Amino acid sequence: MSNLIKDLNKEVQSAANKAFKAMNNSAALRKLGVEKVVIVETKRDLAVQMAYYSRSRMKDIKDVKAMYKAAGLYEPTDRECKTANTQTLNSNHIKGIAIDFAPCKNNVIWWDAPDSVWNEMGKIGKKYGFSWGGDWKDWQDKPHFEMV
Ligand SMILES: [Zn+2]
Repeated sequence: MSNLIKDLNKEVQSAANKAFKAMNNSAALRKLGVEKVVIVETKRDLAVQMAYYSRSRMKDIKDVKAMYKAAGLYEPTDRECKTANTQTLNSNHIKGIAIDFAPCKNNVIWWDAPDSVWNEMGKIGKKYGFSWGGDWKDWQDKPHFEMV
């Protein structure tokens, strides 16, 4: 698992860099209380995707924790183990064409930022050619951007 733009496919790197810079220079985001925008994840290997996928799907949360450990991830909380995190094993992160951005406030990731923040980030990412997970109908993934 990586959070580096250089681990994305070559043809996605330039747009990812531009979107990242634009989000961090956005006066609109600053006004909404965002201190900075960080990259949470770029390229992902299959073991990590399988660990994510196991959440809410394996009966015993110990098995989810074992999947996380095997993939070199942190130990998820019991609540995380019971909550779905992804709808697919075939993520565009594995292909190196997806990137997750998150806003920060008080030096930590602001996961429960209001929609106004995520929508503004979505608008910026789309300007640089990305599809935004916040536009998905059945499963919204607001930090997620991909170049398909
Ligand atoms: Zn994503």
